Amino acid sequence: MKKCPACAEEIQDEAIKCKHCGSDLREGAKTNVSSNKSVVSKNLGLIVALILIVTSFLVWFLVGTGQVNLAKARANLSEVNLILRTISTASESYSVANQGNYPIDIAALIPSYLNQNYCNSTVDGYTLTCSFTNTNYTITATPTQGGQSLSISTGGVLR
Ligand SMILES: [Zn+2]
Repeated sequence: MKKCPACAEEIQDEAIKCKHCGSDLREGAKTNVSSNKSVVSKNLGLIVALILIVTSFLVWFLVGTGQVNLAKARANLSEVNLILRTISTASESYSVANQGNYPIDIAALIPSYLNQNYCNSTVDGYTLTCSFTNTNYTITATPTQGGQSLSISTGGVLR
């Protein structure tokens, strides 16, 4: 006779299953259960760690690229701003030299006042459209991916 390790009742030495509590008495049966459990908890810890790593990487990546995009958008905006001012300054200079008449086409500014034709072209994510008459002009920069457009018109008024 021996004692069941689970319920402490007397059982046969050859018993592989306790008749009192139904415990499996084969060698390794109990330890297998506990080792399975520890494997599961080990894996769970690994999975949680992995999720944490992936999540923090994602957050870092999104914040990082967001800031890069924002910085790029700011750089593009100031670049476009500069182009609008350049065209405006060229137009004003043309007007001073031509009895107050503005050019009726941007082509009239090139190459004496302006080095290239920016109209109807896309620069730094902005499409530039121009309107010229001999009394006024408006150059509009519209973001190709949506957002606020900006323009400069007669007298160098930027809005
Ligand atoms: Zn038992």
